[in-house]
Amino acid sequence: SDKPLIVSFGEMLIDFVPTVSGVSLAEAPGFVKAPGGAPANVAIAVTRLGGKAAFVGKLGDDEFGNMLAGILKENGVIATGISFDTGARTALAFVTLRADGEREFMFYRNPSADMLLRPEELNLELIRSAKVFHYGSISLIVEPCRSAHLQAMKVAKDAGALLSYDPNLRLPLWPSEEEAREQIMSIWDEADVVKVSDNELEFLTGSDKIDDETAMLLWRPNFKLLLVTLGEKGCNYYTKNFHGSVEAFHVDTVDTTGAGDSFVGALLCKIVDDQSVLEDEPRLREILRFANACGAITTTKKGAIPALPMTADALELVNE
Ligand code: ADP
Repeated sequence: SDKPLIVSFGEMLIDFVPTVSGVSLAEAPGFVKAPGGAPANVAIAVTRLGGKAAFVGKLGDDEFGNMLAGILKENGVIATGISFDTGARTALAFVTLRADGEREFMFYRNPSADMLLRPEELNLELIRSAKVFHYGSISLIVEPCRSAHLQAMKVAKDAGALLSYDPNLRLPLWPSEEEAREQIMSIWDEADVVKVSDNELEFLTGSDKIDDETAMLLWRPNFKLLLVTLGEKGCNYYTKNFHGSVEAFHVDTVDTTGAGDSFVGALLCKIVDDQSVLEDEPRLREILRFANACGAITTTKKGAIPALPMTADALELVNE
């Protein structure tokens, strides 16, 4: 179709989630496969809402990689930017919510296929055709994926794409907190639109106050939009000319996985059609209300991808 294209770059993996909650990984009696990876979730969030999206990343040429590629295709995500590694295997994560409320992660990444994407494997024609280019941070951690990430960003930017960044901090992946902060900040200035969660705001600024002053520490003069998402409290937005907050929707939350990706997908879906909304506060607030509704709906079902809403679902909540 001739709809404007959103390209989402990064990892796609399978989360193995315990069949019962509130136990440690070691105590889990069994696991359910939940496809995920923030950039892949964002691509599917876009197509669920009727937008056009491509995913760029690398999978293992194995059972799990083929399963993930199938999920992208079923959801109408353009797959011409996906590479397959014949040596390394698809990334896997074991994720559990322990009884103490803490999330526990364990990753299979030694190295996994996503980390082995090489710059020369990038589908540059696809990346050049992006109106919006979205990315996370995990692909910055090691070479050669880091170089591929930096090159893809540059190619997209040079071709005129709006750059959208969600750091998606998953700490155990980095060798240290300092390295995580350093890598995230090393590409901070490049983005046009940046979304952080309240936890990431604290982590990146070192402040324990989630307020405007703290958010402004992350602002850059070239930014078009900075968002701080606050879970059940909605989101705060900052542009050159105005800032404010948009309340969340009250829903019966069962699993918050993917809420941020759903929010970002919804936002990008609207921005890609008309970037002038970034300079128009009433229209931007309307879009953020829609994005909050998408995030809220995603928390009402288990898993990320199965819980991503269609436009009609989101509008139903918005118009309630
Ligand atoms: P992340 O998943 O990146 O941590 P959040 O949890 O802040 O991001 O979720 C993104 C958006 O999804 C929020 O701004 C909010 O609008 C919506 N959302 C998340 N959790 C809830 C919740 N428990 N109830 C209602 N809306 C929620």
